[in-house]
Amino acid sequence: MKHMLEMTCDELSAAIKALGLPAFRGRQIFQWIWDKRVGDFAAMTNLSRDLRERLAGTMTALTGRIIRSREASDGVIKLLIEWPDGERIETVMIPTRPGEAPSARRTACISTQVGCAVGCVFCASGLEGVSRDLTAGEIVEQVYLWDTQPGAARVTHVVLMGMGEPLANYEATVAAVRILIDPDRGGLSARHITLSTVGLPDQIRRLAGEGIPLNLAISLHAPNDELRRRLIPAATGVSIDELIDAGCEYFSRTGRELTLEYVLLAGVNDSPACAEQLADLTRRLRCNVNLIRYNPVAGLPFSRPAEREVVAFRDRLRRLGANVQIRASRGADADAACGQLRRTGVSS
Ligand code: SF4
Repeated sequence: MKHMLEMTCDELSAAIKALGLPAFRGRQIFQWIWDKRVGDFAAMTNLSRDLRERLAGTMTALTGRIIRSREASDGVIKLLIEWPDGERIETVMIPTRPGEAPSARRTACISTQVGCAVGCVFCASGLEGVSRDLTAGEIVEQVYLWDTQPGAARVTHVVLMGMGEPLANYEATVAAVRILIDPDRGGLSARHITLSTVGLPDQIRRLAGEGIPLNLAISLHAPNDELRRRLIPAATGVSIDELIDAGCEYFSRTGRELTLEYVLLAGVNDSPACAEQLADLTRRLRCNVNLIRYNPVAGLPFSRPAEREVVAFRDRLRRLGANVQIRASRGADADAACGQLRRTGVSS
């Protein structure tokens, strides 16, 4: 049966009716699930006990089981989730910073695949390849889990930057986004959702035609094709020129400025020449550059540049006219930062 978080109110009512129950029960259950964020039939107190037990025996709203939770010293929390087939993913909550209102911003960083086939050489998520795609329900369920943590405010922002390449799991990812922005379900603004891709030009164009004003971030990580193919082996068949063209089309159709993500690896892609090449690229499309300090992964031969090198790289880009900022790195001491998520949930 379809995951309950994928169902519209009409679909849920039809499923309930197929069980021989009145359709209005479907609407009641839909309200519990989405208005009250109650996914446990036992807690749906306006349903009879008989009905609750029957529903619990035939369908589930939530299919993931939290195996482990880790909290970093800066408040970032990472959950390891196991699906009924035994596959595991990680999902991260990035709360507001100290001093901000607790409900001001709660960003869920969610996964779209079990593992990742892209295999960026500096990233933990791609170490074991990809095992399967997540369904739309499993993608949405990660946000739902964060919405329903005890005492937690609702998620305000979502970044599709966890494990996996969202555009390699296109249908499920777009279906999940549609659920998250549905006013009767997730209720989020598309402008508060960012999809991060290593860059599949055809899929970027397809996404531009979906009519969803999502923020799009392209993981560039290198300013020329030769270096990019060394860092992102799966990018071998795609040139930076093709990505820029697709990015320009995305901007012209959605009006959303792109973000170019660039993880700084000491001695690899942080030279002045790299900054100059990157600045040249930024003149070709409406974009901001997000510089990411590398988060070390045990067993991988990369390191983060010294802070003065990070700042010098940013300042050089700025002098060359680029819009650029250094992304605050959070969650690293719980291995919950960018590039540190794993199917096993543990660092080796
Ligand atoms: S950085 Fe992103 S695209 Fe690259 S291997 Fe990791 S999860 Fe996959």
